[in-house]
Amino acid sequence: MKTPFVTLEQLQEITQKYPTPFHIYDEKGIRENARKLNKAFEWNKGFKEYFAVKATPNPYIINILKEEGCGVDCSSLTELMLAEALGYSGEGIMFSSNATPPEEFIKATELNSIINLDDYTHIDFLDKIVGIPETICCRFNPGGVFKTANGIMDNPGDAKYGFTKEQLIDGFIRLKEMGAKTFGIHSFLASNTASNEYYPALAAILFELAVELKEKTGVDIKFINLSGGVGIPYKPDEMENDIMEIGEGVRKAYEQILVPAGMGDVAIFTELGRYMLAPFGHLVATAVHEKHIYKEYIGLDACAVNLMRPAMYGAYHHITVMGKENEPYDHKYDITGSLCENNDKFAIDRMLPKIDIGDFVVIHDTGAHGFSMGYNYNGKLRSSELLLKEDGAVQLIRRAETPKDYFITFDFSDILKDAQ
Ligand SMILES: *Cc1c(COP(=O)(O)O)cnc(C)c1O
Repeated sequence: MKTPFVTLEQLQEITQKYPTPFHIYDEKGIRENARKLNKAFEWNKGFKEYFAVKATPNPYIINILKEEGCGVDCSSLTELMLAEALGYSGEGIMFSSNATPPEEFIKATELNSIINLDDYTHIDFLDKIVGIPETICCRFNPGGVFKTANGIMDNPGDAKYGFTKEQLIDGFIRLKEMGAKTFGIHSFLASNTASNEYYPALAAILFELAVELKEKTGVDIKFINLSGGVGIPYKPDEMENDIMEIGEGVRKAYEQILVPAGMGDVAIFTELGRYMLAPFGHLVATAVHEKHIYKEYIGLDACAVNLMRPAMYGAYHHITVMGKENEPYDHKYDITGSLCENNDKFAIDRMLPKIDIGDFVVIHDTGAHGFSMGYNYNGKLRSSELLLKEDGAVQLIRRAETPKDYFITFDFSDILKDAQ
């Protein structure tokens, strides 16, 4: 059973001012969860979560995380600009990019952020553009498949990211010769993991690597970045990860591997996106059409441009028909948006209570990789974003796009000037 963090009565009131569709975020949930993460890793003196900005690039939301002590993980020019606008600089920013354009390394350097190099060849690329900074991080890709006791989690050998181990050893020696003094390592081996084992298993790999790198290169490793990948239960019957157990698992690996190697002062960093925010966002839409052909369809006023994951990955997002939680789930629907694309379906063959036109539909777990993956196909416009504050008030934190926004990139031209 998944329960929305807003009630039907709240939605009736909110929609008087802000029409559907919109994404709404739960400040209380975001804060409590961030505190839980910090608690789970409080055993580590330098622990810091660098929120993955790409998951939810809204300054109001990131400010909440900032107040909870989080840094930011950026990977593009505009994400760096967002971080700058929020007052982030220096060790508050991790720049974890790949196939990086030169201007992004320049901006990252201006902000003094920690640069996390994705590739061996980026050492010379960075050196040529801005020089090698004193603090540098490199991303590791072990290749092969990533397995834990419970099976295969993902396939790093097929992933475009990171250095091989040999490149890392050679790279650290070169970076040291070029003036780097403080080093970090980073790796992201599996996404949306539904197991408390992921971080501890990844940590053990990185801790052993850190010990080996220290022995072979003599560099000073100050931090290990476990990156993102801790998942959330999108389906109501899935188990929730236990962040306390995850933190404890990482602590055990730390005590077993790093402490005996004299590396008990290494800081642990994370770059979580989904875990920090996905459960604390809903996409709220209204049922605007019903259609009875070979299947039963409900058409919403939201579409895949507001939430791409079901269309893109076939991802499951739970749906609550507001006010009908206790009615029988005896109707089988495809819940669709209005794109001229048959994959624009938020749910396929989903058993739900009977939906009537005008019903509010809450699509769960859209707080990360939801709005941010939006696009403008079919000339559809991005929705607004709202914040349900701790005191129950609702704040507009991004207005909905208007046609003017859609046409703004023709501002050099006379053709569409009346539309702007
Ligand atoms: C996407 C990404 C993250 C966040 O991933 P989640 O699955 O949202 O936790 C962290 N670090 C990097 C480098 C990423 O690309």
